[in-house]
Amino acid sequence: MDELLRRSEKLTTVGQLAAGVAHEIRNPLTTLRGFLQLQLQTSKLNTRHVDLMLSELDRINLIVGEFLILAKPQATRFEVKDIRFTLGDVISLLDSQAHLCNVVFATDFGQEECRISCEENQLKQVFINVLKNAMEAMPQGGQITIQVHRQERQICISIADEGIGISEEKIAKLGDPFYTDKDAGTGLGIMVSQRIIQSHQGTFEIKSKVGEGTTVLITIPLYRADNSES
Ligand code: ADP
Ligand code: MG
Repeated sequence: MDELLRRSEKLTTVGQLAAGVAHEIRNPLTTLRGFLQLQLQTSKLNTRHVDLMLSELDRINLIVGEFLILAKPQATRFEVKDIRFTLGDVISLLDSQAHLCNVVFATDFGQEECRISCEENQLKQVFINVLKNAMEAMPQGGQITIQVHRQERQICISIADEGIGISEEKIAKLGDPFYTDKDAGTGLGIMVSQRIIQSHQGTFEIKSKVGEGTTVLITIPLYRADNSES
């Protein structure tokens, strides 16, 4: 029953999203069509136009990719993982990109085991989204501080940047699909991340001060082999 409810809720969201996705994809498609027609008329390749076409294609790809994470009827396989290793994997994945952007990662993972029951690839997706946002908020570079600790029955993950920050009125809009202020943004990252954390019975919170930086706070219940244990 629970599962049915969860699935139908997911379907509604996906249905609503699909309309948005169709709309978001139509714009770059129109651009692509226009430029292709131009190439045909002038019968010679304009590299600037080809560049634009490629970036529009990339955009479509990004939007569809993020949408698929939600829409895919995935047989979600929850496994018990120590979140510190999951985070560590994502950090190594992004390390070279961070280096290029003058961004350094500072981690404080503590000594305690931080085991949770999770769909690891989905959580990686969340960390990638949040860390990328943090990097993109610091065009001149800076430090991203990633902390993990246990608090009673929760694992708390904090990801803090020293970037441009987010105004209060903008914070209210975060999580709305397609809300973005980036040229190459999809405005899906936060929404997808929130949903994934929700499906892990966790919480996702953003705190920010303009000009000082942004902190994303995520909590996920600690895994307990014996759930009745108090
Ligand atoms: P995208 O990154 O594609 O724009 P997101 O859903 O990831 O979509 O983020 C939505 C918007 O939230 C961003 O365009 C940006 O304005 C704001 N935002 C998110 N994270 C941060 C951050 N760490 N610092 C400043 N702004 C942020
Ligand atoms: Mg993003």
